[in-house]
Amino acid sequence: MFKIFGVVEILIGRVVLLFEEDRYDRQKRVAGWYQEDLTRAKVLVAGVGAIGSFIGVNLALSGVGKLILVDMDTVAFSNLNRQLLFREKDVGKKKAQIVANRLRSMNRDVKIKWYARRLEELDEDVFKKADVLVSALDNFEGRLWLNAIAVRLKKPMVSGGMDGFLGQIQVVIPGKTPCLMCSPLLPQEVVAQACTPWGEEREAQREIEEPPPPPAPAVSTLSTIIGGLMSQEVVKLLIKGLGTPLGSYMFYDGLASRFTYVPLSLNPGCPVCGEKIKLEEIDFPVDLDETIEAILYRLIIAYDLIEPEIIFHGKILEKSTKMRSLRLSKEKKPIFFVTDKKRLKKPLKLKLKLITPPKIKKT
Ligand SMILES: [Zn+2]
Repeated sequence: MFKIFGVVEILIGRVVLLFEEDRYDRQKRVAGWYQEDLTRAKVLVAGVGAIGSFIGVNLALSGVGKLILVDMDTVAFSNLNRQLLFREKDVGKKKAQIVANRLRSMNRDVKIKWYARRLEELDEDVFKKADVLVSALDNFEGRLWLNAIAVRLKKPMVSGGMDGFLGQIQVVIPGKTPCLMCSPLLPQEVVAQACTPWGEEREAQREIEEPPPPPAPAVSTLSTIIGGLMSQEVVKLLIKGLGTPLGSYMFYDGLASRFTYVPLSLNPGCPVCGEKIKLEEIDFPVDLDETIEAILYRLIIAYDLIEPEIIFHGKILEKSTKMRSLRLSKEKKPIFFVTDKKRLKKPLKLKLKLITPPKIKKT
């Protein structure tokens, strides 16, 4: 009898403790911390692998009001060396769903929505709801795509990535700090290679033409460092007046224990965010059966260009890309930027007018 009474007493004590104690007490002791700013905030995390899941943990534990998790991937056995929220039993399951469930169990205060889809398939309203976007993606296409969304919707974005013991971070505050395309730190041809648009046709073509590249080296020590630094930037963006956002490109070499800061500046000619300059805006009819090569040819003829390139959502489109694979019909106002280093001082902005090719009647 006494034993049961004792157990009940302990349970009541725990419940009282749970309601009396403030989960966020220790962080509220930080000068300039304003928990309400976090409680009200919504953050979209694109990619919940090694870096992204760690950011999810930090933001959930800190009490960010809502997390929107996006990852089309499933858990692989080789993820388990660094992606801390996954267990062996999760192999083959959707990453976004697993991360959402684990984070909910860490902090019931946080609302979590997850999407096991490609970023490009999400409705723009999903991005509009977020106060900060986080790119923890392992590919350039995705990063540049989110970069273009961030600029268009004027949402701050924290982007980061890693390769073995090397990591990098950049914070994009549209209109204030440079975007990822203002001064790409990679040679244009590498960016171009990385910027092939998604699409089943392209994927199928790739499988035939070129074997997939080997996976990049990845260690958990580096992903937790980069994920931690990125989480810190998100928290600083959300809590007004807390610290200063990272204003440069930060590079971390884990083997040499060295941080390098590369100063960046807004590029008024940037095809993604350089809209402060007046761009020539042209209504341009395109046919969904056309390829980019055909459009480039028309641009060369019509505007006397020499080496034009077409940029769409921050990606340089390959000549072989078919217009149909860009799924433009889903876009409200599709816009292409056209650059030509030899002929144009600033990019052309093409407002696309989609034309359905006329059907030829059989006689
Ligand atoms: Zn830019």
